[in-house]
Amino acid sequence: MSPTFSQFAGYPDFIYGFSGRSDGSMHRHLEKENREKYFKTLGVDSGRVVTADLIHGANVVGVSGQEGGIMVTKTDGLVTDTRGLLLTATAADCFLLYFYDPLKNVVGIAHAGWRGLLAGIVENTIAGLTQSFGVAPQDLLVSISPGIRGCHFEISPADKEKFKEYSQFVLERSGKVFVDLPGILRIKLLDKGISAKHIEDSEICTHCHEKEYFSYRRDKPKDVQVQIGYIGLI
Ligand SMILES: [Zn+2]
Repeated sequence: MSPTFSQFAGYPDFIYGFSGRSDGSMHRHLEKENREKYFKTLGVDSGRVVTADLIHGANVVGVSGQEGGIMVTKTDGLVTDTRGLLLTATAADCFLLYFYDPLKNVVGIAHAGWRGLLAGIVENTIAGLTQSFGVAPQDLLVSISPGIRGCHFEISPADKEKFKEYSQFVLERSGKVFVDLPGILRIKLLDKGISAKHIEDSEICTHCHEKEYFSYRRDKPKDVQVQIGYIGLI
């Protein structure tokens, strides 16, 4: 069940999406067959798929036709202006951010869990888009995938310190501590010059929606089960 983003409607030049539980797990190392099947239904040759081999860090890589079909190691963000490439990343509670500049025809995807978020994945993805492709932040459309939200993203009281710059997004309920990660995401996007009207959030919590999505925190599976997100110029 892929969320639809109204700000992306009306642009025929690119495709984007986010898989659901019914599509099966899309883990980049464990589910090769299922991924092939999924890309086939999208009508995309797997030789055109670029995969971020996530490390919950803040590294962003610009890719071109040469990277088609490969896994880009040690990276959580991908950006490109090459047509026909599908940029992909996976998540099972973390957020995926979709970036599209309809003027310059540039796309990006970023995987943002709490570690990457605090390490600067949002800032680095925007820098990758502006520095490599001359994108102006105010032209960028940014959409936020389903992910674990303030209703369910609990942290240990000891970890509160890590979020001290973002205390307005640290929520205390019945002696437990939760963090509103999309709230932090939004602040970071605004700080980098993204226009508020160009930020669209799916507002879906993966943990709340058991029928539709895998959630690592909720399911605690032996082998991690994940959604895949993709964006590409066509
Ligand atoms: Zn929830």
